[in-house]
Amino acid sequence: MKSSALRERYLPAMTETQLRSAAGQEKALVILPIGAIEQHGPHLPVGTDSLIGEILLRGIAEELAPEEAVYVAPSIVVSKSNEHTGFPGTLMVHRDVLAACIRGSVAQLEAWGFAEVAILNTHGGNLPLLRSLLREIRIETGESLHLLNPFPPTEMDAREQTFGIHGGEYESSILYAQVPEFCKPERADAQWIDAGLEGPDLRPESSPATFAWTARDLSPSGTMGDATRASAEKGGLWTRRAVQELVHELRSLQT
Ligand SMILES: [Zn+2]
Repeated sequence: MKSSALRERYLPAMTETQLRSAAGQEKALVILPIGAIEQHGPHLPVGTDSLIGEILLRGIAEELAPEEAVYVAPSIVVSKSNEHTGFPGTLMVHRDVLAACIRGSVAQLEAWGFAEVAILNTHGGNLPLLRSLLREIRIETGESLHLLNPFPPTEMDAREQTFGIHGGEYESSILYAQVPEFCKPERADAQWIDAGLEGPDLRPESSPATFAWTARDLSPSGTMGDATRASAEKGGLWTRRAVQELVHELRSLQT
């Protein structure tokens, strides 16, 4: 799926000489993508989060001018997915292993000479770890890493925006638009994670009272949100917008 524009910026495709000149550019920035392999409901592939990262990177590479010094490190695709344990298709490592992998890659990228490192995370389950890890790295080394975490579109209805956290309208639309050959839209369903729980304030996410949930507690199919509202048309629009926002962020990190 790698486009030629992305391949031009992909570090594993470079020789040592090319790497030296890439890292030596002023304010050279490298993106470290982090995805996941985990169940995404009956209609999406288990590589959904990693595929979304790759789709966004392809769009970013096509949008940037050739002289812009932005490069892409190999992705970390197996990450912290313990909330999806018990479903076939979920691969994971312990959060300490993921943290060690990120530390290792970041230390080397900086040793090669890249001025800025930005993590592009496309799996929500990694966020608590990433926030605390990046702060630890800052305190230990003085290095301030950047965290890019694309947000869902605001035109989805309020319930989907809050609780459509996994395989719902947003992720399904992106995949229908970009990799329809991997999707089974006829199997899409709607599962609401705020339904059937005790009390008005107890919710798995976005609430003052939460609990340590796993996907099995909340959704028999693995979907969290309404995938039946997804469309390729929305996905095309939302992909373009996410790419533009990310390109804007990347440029602001280099000024
Ligand atoms: Zn996902």
